[in-house]
Amino acid sequence: MSTPISNPSDPRLSQPGRGWLEVICGGMFSGKTEELLRRLRHVKHARLSHMIFTPKADTRYDSERVVSHVGTKLEAQPVQNIHDVLATVGRRPDLQVIAIDEIQFLENDPEETVRACQQLADQGIRVIVAGLDQDFRAQPFPPIPQLMAVAEYVDKLMAICTRCGNYAGRSQRLIDGRAAPFDAPTIAVGGEELYEPRCRCCYEWPDD
Ligand SMILES: [Zn+2]
Repeated sequence: MSTPISNPSDPRLSQPGRGWLEVICGGMFSGKTEELLRRLRHVKHARLSHMIFTPKADTRYDSERVVSHVGTKLEAQPVQNIHDVLATVGRRPDLQVIAIDEIQFLENDPEETVRACQQLADQGIRVIVAGLDQDFRAQPFPPIPQLMAVAEYVDKLMAICTRCGNYAGRSQRLIDGRAAPFDAPTIAVGGEELYEPRCRCCYEWPDD
């Protein structure tokens, strides 16, 4: 499912002063957090200074850890918005690698997130972000689409469609087992009770 890529997972490339931006995106249950943690384990083994940030709005798990759906964990700093990330990095000039999980949950303008990520990469930091590329309406979900455009490396991961077993790029949001209406709130944090990975054929469009 996840496509390992050679360059960004190679810790020898994370030399001070060589910044870039990596995006890990896809739908729910596509293994984004697992891939982010896999890269961070390499960073840790290479003894590079690093930090993981997780939005406070993502209340699914213990907020001081990033935990994937398969249960892997690493310590993380909970943040409200991208300004908290910038402030923390500002106090840690030694940082070589930073990661932000579920970046769409940061509570600030998506454009500010993109600007800040660019700024951090320009400063020589390897910036790894993970998040949803589409919302439950199968529409581009800022800031990931904008970050994909300006990133050096992009990986789009697929889940498996719960209906037919094909690769699934969309996240079906369900309310009482039926497709959520178009005007339902974009952000509703949840696990398997709320979302199902669906392929293009099995995805049900929300009613207006
Ligand atoms: Zn399907």
